[in-house]
Amino acid sequence: QKWAQCGLGMQTLGVISSLGYEKPSSIQAQAIPAIMSGRDVIGVAKTGSGKTVAFMLPMFRHIKDQRPLGGMDGPVGLIIAPTRELATQIHRDCKPFLKALDLRAVCTYGGAPIKDQIADLKRGAEIIVCTTGRIIELLAANQGRVTNLARVTYVVLDEADRMFDMGFEPQIMKILNNIRPDRQTVLFSATFPRQMESLARKVLNRPIEIQV
Ligand code: AMP
Repeated sequence: QKWAQCGLGMQTLGVISSLGYEKPSSIQAQAIPAIMSGRDVIGVAKTGSGKTVAFMLPMFRHIKDQRPLGGMDGPVGLIIAPTRELATQIHRDCKPFLKALDLRAVCTYGGAPIKDQIADLKRGAEIIVCTTGRIIELLAANQGRVTNLARVTYVVLDEADRMFDMGFEPQIMKILNNIRPDRQTVLFSATFPRQMESLARKVLNRPIEIQV
């Protein structure tokens, strides 16, 4: 499969080419069209498979399709990751696309000063990349005036099996309770143990399952 067949815009294709990604990886070739069709998706894929690009590119299109909405109105895309390291890496992977597409992403995680992240959010962003604990803190900060998730319509749960293993299911449910139920939800996981099925059933709506 070729990038030109993935339904992406010219700016996005330009960034892909500048990054030297010659063709979509297997998870990208399968997940990108499925996500862009608007359906919820479960992608079972390991780190190194190109899963980050697979959920990012449809998110950018989803956000761009909603213009004219400014980042000041609150985020549209929310990516939840198990660790600070992963959140930071996702944020880093977004950056070349953000510039080309004129979008902003804020990365929020624990263990760093919350006031810097609040200042960042106040400047406006279409995308938040976060860990569970810190986004819950931020939602409660300043009587909920820092940010709210009322406009979020695209949610990614990345490395969901790790979040599940770390006992984050209640936090995930708490965050998702702040988000409209007709959102699009995408879950990526390296493994898909049976115990995760009930979580998936609660947070996803008739998902398409893709395994690589
Ligand atoms: P991930 O599985 O998202 O952690 O990605 C693993 C690495 O593959 C990252 O360093 C990406 O920059 C790179 N990558 C993602 N998609 C492609 C692609 N289609 N071709 C070549 N490299 C890629």
